[in-house]
Amino acid sequence: MSSLSEIFGQGHNAYFSNGPVARLSFIRLNNELLDKASTHSGAKYLTFEELNPLRTPDGKLAFSTYDDVAAALGRPYAKDEKMQIAEFSPDKYHPNLIFLGLDLEGRSGESVQLGQYSGVPYFALDITPKHYEAFRMAQTEAGLQYAPTRIELTLDHPQSAIYSHARSLLDWNNRNRYCSSCGGRTLSVHGGAKVVCPPADNGVLRQRACPTRIGLHNQAFPRTDPTAVIAPLSADAKRVLLGRGKRWPGNYFSCLSGFIEPGESIETATRREAYEETGVRIDRVQIHSSQPWPYPSTMLIGVIGQCVHGGENITYPETELEEARWFELAEVEHALNHGANAMWEQPIKGYTGPRVPPSQLMAHQVLRGVLRLFHK
Ligand SMILES: [Zn+2]
Repeated sequence: MSSLSEIFGQGHNAYFSNGPVARLSFIRLNNELLDKASTHSGAKYLTFEELNPLRTPDGKLAFSTYDDVAAALGRPYAKDEKMQIAEFSPDKYHPNLIFLGLDLEGRSGESVQLGQYSGVPYFALDITPKHYEAFRMAQTEAGLQYAPTRIELTLDHPQSAIYSHARSLLDWNNRNRYCSSCGGRTLSVHGGAKVVCPPADNGVLRQRACPTRIGLHNQAFPRTDPTAVIAPLSADAKRVLLGRGKRWPGNYFSCLSGFIEPGESIETATRREAYEETGVRIDRVQIHSSQPWPYPSTMLIGVIGQCVHGGENITYPETELEEARWFELAEVEHALNHGANAMWEQPIKGYTGPRVPPSQLMAHQVLRGVLRLFHK
């Protein structure tokens, strides 16, 4: 075997990522380009109400045009960023609008030329504020709707990536409307990929000095919270440990998981989580693949961790899990092929073995990785 794909399998299969939109992050810095893109007749707006995207009757994402939102949105990039910060007023409406990027293939509609790039521009817009009422009613009349969803696993792969990017950024902007250092209202800039703490409100300097305004630090960037999704492997590489959470349905198992904390590597967090949740002791850790998870902004990192010899005893030192169990690799393979679906769905008809997560989830992918490497 001479390629990574041959060893680990193809690497473009993480749900919620690998979408058709190229972010082209440098465009965010240029309001002239953003203005051109956002007002272009080919621009596609994915609108959200309370973080639920607009959908067609058959559940696909429904995109709107600039004409549809222009009356309520205006021209948010008409002025450059410097001017917007200088003229900042906390009393005015500042749209929660995200520049997602360009579909460079241009297959989804009419392209716009931005510098040397040409493509269909994509934006995400939060239409929860009241002054989008007319827009919202027009969508309902057209048979479209904002249906509340839990965890979205029904979109096709390209749409899942657009949705994931949009949802995480809209949510982050909503959570960062006030500066975490001084409490003043913030302004979203860089096409929604950054917030700044303006020095003045309506031209009046803010009373309290903000530590974030010293030097170049008057800003905050979107966060991603790394979480390890762990497939513990026995020392002889013949079994995988799966756990069952306290509120999960009976017979539903998945990988172990936990947040990676400050001061931890992915490897040390993996060893700690596996030990804390089940008592098993892991030695070598290998990262398999990763997946963004837009609830709200997690980075799932799928890892395989092999136990030290004699480190497979399950002792439950803490009580996060209802149950943990070692499974033979053949049993895991059978479960992935025949018993994999979301835990809030009914078990697959006729299947009675251990239930496991569907292919859209990191846990499924990392278990596939274990089988590929060790189940010969
Ligand atoms: Zn501040």
